[in-house]
Parts: sequence; structure tokens; C-alpha cells
Amino acid sequence: MADKRDYYEVLGVQKNASADEIKKAYRSLARKYHPDLHPDDKDCAEKFKEVNEAYEVLSDPSKKERYDQFGHAGVDPNYGGGGFNGGAGFNPFGDMGDIFENLFGGGFGGGFGGSTRSRADAPRRGQDVDTTVTIEFMEACMGVKREIKINRLDKCPDCKGTGASAGSTPQTCPECNGRGQVKVAQRTPFGVISSQKVCSKCGGKGKIVSNPCSKCGGNGRVRVSKSLSVDIPAGIDDGQMLRVSGQGDAGVNGGPSGNLNVGVRVKNHPLFEREEYDIHCEIPITYAQAVMGDELVVPTIDGNVKYSIGEGTQTGTVFRLKGKGVKKLQRSERGDQYVKVYVEVPKNLDKKQKELLKEFEASLEDKNYEKKKNFFDKLKEFKERFKDKN
Ligand SMILES: [Zn+2]
Ligand SMILES: [Zn+2]
Repeated sequence: MADKRDYYEVLGVQKNASADEIKKAYRSLARKYHPDLHPDDKDCAEKFKEVNEAYEVLSDPSKKERYDQFGHAGVDPNYGGGGFNGGAGFNPFGDMGDIFENLFGGGFGGGFGGSTRSRADAPRRGQDVDTTVTIEFMEACMGVKREIKINRLDKCPDCKGTGASAGSTPQTCPECNGRGQVKVAQRTPFGVISSQKVCSKCGGKGKIVSNPCSKCGGNGRVRVSKSLSVDIPAGIDDGQMLRVSGQGDAGVNGGPSGNLNVGVRVKNHPLFEREEYDIHCEIPITYAQAVMGDELVVPTIDGNVKYSIGEGTQTGTVFRLKGKGVKKLQRSERGDQYVKVYVEVPKNLDKKQKELLKEFEASLEDKNYEKKKNFFDKLKEFKERFKDKN
């Protein structure tokens, strides 16, 4: 299916052939391959079929129009195996999006005066180029300069973007007058609609380059690999996008360049977790440190700092180091660091250690365990009330 021959080629006529020329070509070929003249010649039978099929489409103005616009997919229900409504046959409403784009493409040409339609040779902005970069946690906190390799379209240095080889200039396309599109009358279920079609002579460019630049093949732009130095600001976070203006693809017809969009990924840190501009971390302390208090060494993104915890610090206590978080983007202040301490229960004690602990535990009284006493008092009270009710 995919290698089905072009119908104009089958009939040996030009795309702009008149109805008469098409009819003439068909008659002569039909006579040539007629099965009556070549009995038992399979090749001829195939050719005869092909010629008839081509003529059936090209002799019918509405089928011909669809074929001109959509190729075989426009007239053959089986073509492409499901391209149109799951292969259920050609539906004039088939792919509405495509059809309407064709009918009304180019900004409601035809019936709407067309004065606001942009010309094919109007300046167009280049496309944005997207890339990603992965940086370390600390680099995101402090900011970093990175060399980023990108692929983009630059203005061709040989022809300065005109697409024409040195000494020649592109000419306005005589077929479409530089508009890149031509008006066609199209018969549709809604009646005849005047619509726009991409100009076949210039391929929609509006200009014809008779002597194309050899470096860019007449495109005016060439694909290049570039290494750019990008400043990633302090405070950037995982998943954020950095826009480097004007570093995307070069524009067309003197239009501005697109932007370079750098998606930033930030690696995890073994100790710190970030939430907006705050940093969270957890520090294990010993039972003795929690009981008696101690001066802790706390890591921050500026280096270690000392922090004193008081006697009887409970597990899960969170303290705040003000201004030790990440610098806010485009601002001078910083977030905070939150440090959560938790008591690590020692494991694998030997017999002697266990005995010492038992002895120590036995020496404790109610006043040492405020919550425990509270809890058992409440439990007792609850049991007594429950007994009364039954
Ligand atoms: Zn060039
Ligand atoms: Zn043209």
C-alpha cells in the first residue's frame, strides 16, 4: 500500500493537467493495456487496473481535490490501515482537525479579506531549544556555572540566512506572489469553500531560490553543536526551568531567535532534604545526651555549627537554625534549617551493660518520668470509671 504509485504518474500527466489531457492520457493507456489485447498477461491486467483506478479519482473533481490535498489517504478507504476512523472507509469528516486546518489554514484566508494573514516570508521567531542539566545539591544552594552542550539551528554563515548562494538573491515566487499559499475552490459537504493550499511551486516559502547555498541547501539555517556557559543561580530547585533568552534556534526571515530552556535536576544530598528554601535534617543522639543535654555538632550548607540541647531533650524535638537554609532566588534572604533529634536506642548490649541499665532503671522514680506517671494515672482513672458503669 505504502508504495502505491502516484496517480498522475500512472497516467503520465503533469499535476496541473486539464481534464481533457487526463481523459486523453487515460484513453490511450486503457487501449494499450486492455485485457482483450493481452490475454493471459498478468502484468498488463495489473496496469489496466491501476490506470482505471487513477482515472476514477482524477476524473472526479471532488475526489481529485481530496487526492491533491491528502494523497492516497484522501480517496482510498484502505490506505494507511486505519488512518481515517480505524479504516472504516473514507469519511469526508474524517479527521476534522486536518481538514479544517486545510480549509481555513493561513488565518481564514479567502473570504475574510486576508489582509491580516502573515506572509510566508514574514519574519518568524526561531523555535525554543530544550535541554536538561543535572547539578549537585550544594551547587543548587550556592549557584554554579555550567557548560551546556546543545544542538540548534544557527543562521547559515555562508548565505547570511538568505538560502541563496553568494552573488544571487531569492526571488519572490510568481505562483503565489510571495504568500506561500494559493487559493483553491474546494467542494465540501457545506458547499464550495474557497480555501488556501500550500503553494507547490515554492513549497510555502513564498520565495524561490534558483541557486541555493551549498552549505545550508537553501534553508538559510544550519544545525550546529554549541557549548554554552550558563549561570545557574543560587536557590534553584529540582524541576525548575531556566530560560536563556535568545539562545534557541535562529529566526527565519530576520525574526528573533528562540530561547534555550534548561530543565534543572538537582541530585539528592545524603544529609539534607530541601523544602522550598528550608533545609531539613535529622540527627541521632544517645540516650545519655538526651538525658543530660550536650553540645551537638550540626552540619549546615555553610559548614558545621554547634548547637546545645538541654537536659531532658525528648526524641523527635525539632530546633530551628534561622537563616541557615537556601538563599532565595533573586533575593538576599535565606530560608531556615530545621534539625530533628531522635534518640537512637542502643543495641547488642552485653550482660554487664544490661545489669548496669537495670540498676539504673530501678533507681528512677515517678518524678523522673513525668509522662509515664501521667499515662498510668490516666489509665487507672479510666479503668475505675469503666468498672462503675458495669
Ligand atoms: Zn546558506
Ligand atoms: Zn509560491
